[in-house]
Amino acid sequence: MKKGFTVHWNGPPARCVGQPHSRCESFFRAVKAFHMSPRPGIPNGWSDIAYSFGMCPHGIPMVGRGWNKNQFANGKDVVGVNNGPDSQWFSIIVFLGEGERPTPAMVSGVQALIREGRQSGRCAAEVKPHKDWKVKSCPGDEFTFLCRQWDGRPVDGGGVVIPPAPTGPRVLRMGHNGADVKDLQVKLTKLGFPLVADGQFGAATDKAVRAFQKQFGMGVDGAVGPITWAAINLRVWSSAPAPTPPPAPKPTPYPTLRVGASGQMVKVAQLRLAWHGLKLAVDGKFGPSTKANVVTFQKAKRLTADGVVGPATWVELWKD
Ligand SMILES: [Zn+2]
Ligand SMILES: [Zn+2]
Repeated sequence: MKKGFTVHWNGPPARCVGQPHSRCESFFRAVKAFHMSPRPGIPNGWSDIAYSFGMCPHGIPMVGRGWNKNQFANGKDVVGVNNGPDSQWFSIIVFLGEGERPTPAMVSGVQALIREGRQSGRCAAEVKPHKDWKVKSCPGDEFTFLCRQWDGRPVDGGGVVIPPAPTGPRVLRMGHNGADVKDLQVKLTKLGFPLVADGQFGAATDKAVRAFQKQFGMGVDGAVGPITWAAINLRVWSSAPAPTPPPAPKPTPYPTLRVGASGQMVKVAQLRLAWHGLKLAVDGKFGPSTKANVVTFQKAKRLTADGVVGPATWVELWKD
């Protein structure tokens, strides 16, 4: 029996809300085609869409890998077991993305699927947003809220309330006060327009906003709407210290070469033997003559004279 369900969204807008259901079907087909197509690191794509199920805004479930196959959407970075989260959970993708809100039919459809999984004994009662494991935004604020409501509890009946849509940031201008003004002042200060972060949009803040807008070739009006906010945030983020780069990969060790080996690295070894004064053909083929020369070299360097170019022999070969 699986532990429960993980809920996902599309990330980018799915553009199914308010559209005819045929649009939902083509969306699901497109996701499936994407998952099955070759991508970097996944030469042949996946065998099927990653999700167990899909749920459209009309409340119509779509079967991906279904009840009987392991899904492939949760990632492998948990519990230290390959495919752990994939094999222990069903997954549902709701046809939503940034800026799109769930419909009541969609919410009931997801409830119905979870209920069916539990009642049929296919899974326990856990319900998790994908962000608990991996993708920070998935499956959006509303379904994250709903997952918290449903996790380990009945999904039937009342008590489930879709939270109100978050209101967008207001357009800030002179005379406004508040935390958003303070945020603006802190960010402008970081960008070289020093301000007192007092949360009061006065003449000094107005002047700084206008200077920022002028410097970055924007319309100069002293008002901070979506475009000015985006420009400020972009520059604050891009001026943030870069994340620590991953450690450099270890250089590939030189291969161990012995009789029968051939290729570029054999040639390199032969060139180094020749450089050390031995007379041999530099042909990239490790035959008896190369072996004899390696033995001579190893004896001269007081190495184990086995005729095999291993790590210790490579070190000596590279010395001047
Ligand atoms: Zn996800
Ligand atoms: Zn639909």
